[in-house]
Amino acid sequence: MSLVTTRASQLRSCTTCASNRVTEIVMTLTDGSSVDFVSCHACESRSWTQAGRALDISTVLTKATKPRLGSAAA
Ligand SMILES: [Zn+2]
Repeated sequence: MSLVTTRASQLRSCTTCASNRVTEIVMTLTDGSSVDFVSCHACESRSWTQAGRALDISTVLTKATKPRLGSAAA
């Protein structure tokens, strides 16, 4: 799994506790899609979103480990 941090942007508020003490990182996954990772320092919740939609962590991991076409990854 290789995640590339492209930039850290402006602070946003936590979707769980509405605290502004969050870290937001935009990452580009190996399948080429970019996701926002928001980590809250107040309640320690972490969330992933893509184009405003919440992503499940398993979806993120699937995207990050998506096998290349033609590889025998069975
Ligand atoms: Zn929070």
